[in-house]
Order: sequence, then structure tokens, then C-alpha cells
Amino acid sequence: MNDGKTEDALRVTHHESRDKGDSSLVTRYSSLSYCVRCGACKELCPTYIEDSTEGMGARGRLMLLRGLAGGDIEPSKALDERIFSCMLCGACNSICPLGINITGAIYKYRRDLRAPNNKRTFISLWVKFALKRATTGFRILKFIEGVGEVFPVYRLKPFKILREIGIGSLDAPLRDSASIFKVSRPKGRIAVFAGCTANFLYPGIGRSLIRSLNAMSYEVILPKGEACCGAPLMGLGLEDAAVRLAEKNMKTFKKMKVEAVISLCPTCVHFIRNEYKGLVGDSIENAMEVSQFFSDKLSAIGNLKDSHSLPLSGSSLKVVYHDPCHSLYSLNVSAEPRQILRSMGLDLVEAERGCCGFGGTFRLLYQDLSESILKKRVEGYRKADMIVTSCPNCMVQLRSRVKDRQVKHIVELIEEAVQGDRDEKEI
Ligand code: SF4
Ligand code: SF4
Repeated sequence: MNDGKTEDALRVTHHESRDKGDSSLVTRYSSLSYCVRCGACKELCPTYIEDSTEGMGARGRLMLLRGLAGGDIEPSKALDERIFSCMLCGACNSICPLGINITGAIYKYRRDLRAPNNKRTFISLWVKFALKRATTGFRILKFIEGVGEVFPVYRLKPFKILREIGIGSLDAPLRDSASIFKVSRPKGRIAVFAGCTANFLYPGIGRSLIRSLNAMSYEVILPKGEACCGAPLMGLGLEDAAVRLAEKNMKTFKKMKVEAVISLCPTCVHFIRNEYKGLVGDSIENAMEVSQFFSDKLSAIGNLKDSHSLPLSGSSLKVVYHDPCHSLYSLNVSAEPRQILRSMGLDLVEAERGCCGFGGTFRLLYQDLSESILKKRVEGYRKADMIVTSCPNCMVQLRSRVKDRQVKHIVELIEEAVQGDRDEKEI
């Protein structure tokens, strides 16, 4: 039985689109009725590929939401699980021949209709706290990791990934070095939107980006005011909190006179460039992924084939490129990183493309599923001596399983290639 409230919540569409001026996040439930059930979306859906049940695929989720909107099915814990186990990877949106915004419908369900869930509430509270007090949150995690086994929380399943990352050994967040990095006779100015994972877990890749840009004569701004892009909050159904972060980022980055806002994380780029329109009516249009920017500058990128810092230097190093979902499906970036790697003289091997199984809070909420998706992905990469990607979240996930080979962000290789024999500047 439909209680009216559910139907109302599902029906919102046109005035929201008008009010918010975009269709990306707000092509809500009305479009569900256009689905012709062709099934193309489920063939790319990582949770369907793993689980093989209709309800765990894109088409099945859409049918469930359609049933809910029409009053044919009622809200339930099982429905909630199906909708929350979506990784929001965007693969379904990219392939649907009718352009149905499946993730938009899923965001809306999570915002308006999610059922209470203790685990998710705990994670939501933690994420909200950590994003508001990011440095304090980072220190707490370091403390928990430092105290280790003595602290019972450390043994809980959600901390497994933190144990694998080794937070205690990490250095200061990138944002501590917020500044303007000048060069003599700059050819342009670039702003860096680091993203939370790079900021706190892998600040080194942020420094690599700054040094690479400086080496190519770009002045770099690493602003103090960067907030989380909001994607994790949207995934948890906390749209109001995500809007506040979006407003903060718009204030910081929109006014900057820069050639590009480069992020180390494709999810951040997708959000600040595509999804902010639906959230705050405006976006950071010149946001781009690392390889989008550097692929235009291939002539400045050197040959890495004999680099002494790479394993197997002097031999034919086989590299596989792991496509982050939001690069592939939301930003349409896949040729650029491959061009860059080839221009470095590296031997690029191809493997089946697909999700690594991270999916932000999905990694914490659906650990078994996440790990089985990861296992398959990594098996496909076994012919490569090194795995390269453009996403720090994929790095976290891949490194949790790959122990015998390096997993690098493409910017680390770009830095080696553009720096050449130059002295490394202190950042
Ligand atoms: S690809 Fe589009 S039309 Fe086909 S089943 Fe999926 S949502 Fe429906
Ligand atoms: S966003 Fe990804 S995980 Fe979610 S339904 Fe679409 S393809 Fe499946």
C-alpha cells in the first residue's frame, strides 16, 4: 500500500529540475516509467556481475523503485538493502539507451525514503564529524591505529581497511601546506582540489601534482578552504549536508582566475563539475582529472622506460591502467591516461575494465561484496608488473590486496617523467 507520502516523495521532478537548474541529480523518479527493461544497464553493474540476482542490478533496482512509486511494493528493510548496496558508480547511466538517470533516482530514495539502520547511522555520524573536523578525525584514526589491538574498536570489521592502509605511519595532511607555489615566468595558473583521500591518506600524490605543474612552469594554488566534495554524504542520503559543502567549495574555487581546477580524484571532479549544478545550481566547469590536463601536454612528458625508480628498469615493464568508475562512466576519460603511459615508453597491457569494489562507504557497509569484486579485478591484472590508476580511493582498495607489486597514481609517474634530472623542490 502506498501511503501517499512515498508517492509524493517519488513524484518530485520538474519543479526541482527548474529550481535547481539541472537534470544531472534531479532527473528523479518520473523517468523510471520510460525504462523498456532492455537490461543493458545490469550487464555493466558491478553488484549484479558479482551477485547475479536481479534486485542487485541496475535494472532490478529501478524496477523496485518503480514498484514503490506505483504503490505495488512497500518500503522494507530488504528494499533498503538493495538500494543502499548500489555503488553509485554511474555505469548504468552511461549505457542506458534512453538516458535514464538511475543514480539520480537512487540518491533520491536515499535522501527521502531510507529506512533506519544502526550501522549506517554510525557511519553517517562519523563521516559528518570527520568532514567537519577533518584534521581531528584524521588524528583520532591515527590514535586508534596507534593504540591498535588494545583498543577494542580497532578489531571491528570496518577498521579492517584502516589496518591495511596503516594510518599511523602517514605524514601531515596536504592541506597543512596550503599555499601558492610560484615559478618564474609562469605560463598559467592552476588550482588543486586535492580531495579527502589524497589530502589525508596520500598527501604525497598531491605534492607530486604540485611539483609536476611547477616543473611545467605553472603557478599552483592549493587553497585553504577546500571542503569534501560531498559525494560520501550524498551516498548516505545526507543531501543537506552535501549542499553546505558544495556551497563552501563554490565560494573557494569559483572566484579563482585559473586555467583549470585539477583534482587527484575523479569522483571529486564528477561531483564539482557535474553534480553541483543539481545541488547548488552552479558548478566548477573547469574542473578536470589529472590525465585530462596532462594528456594535452604530452610533449613535455619524458620517457620513463629506463627510470631507476621503477621496478625492472631497463626491461620491458608491463603496466596496466585501472579505470576509476567516475573517470570511465561520468567523465568519459579513458584514452588520455593510456596516451600518457605510452608516451612514457611503458608497455601497456589491457585487462577487462570494471570497478575495484571500493565505492566510498560501500567498502564499509558491504565488505564481503566489496572484497569479492576486488579479488576478480586484481586477478585480471596479474600479467602486469605495476598497476596505475587516477584515483586515490582505487589505490586504497587495490593496495589492500596487491602486496607483490606497486599500485601508483598516474601523477607519480608524470612527476618522474616531467622532473627528469631536475632537483626536487621542497613542498
Ligand atoms: S538500460 Fe535503461 S532502458 Fe534498459 S533496463 Fe536499464 S534503465 Fe531500463
Ligand atoms: S550505479 Fe553502479 S552499482 Fe549502482 S545500479 Fe548503477 S551500475 Fe549498479
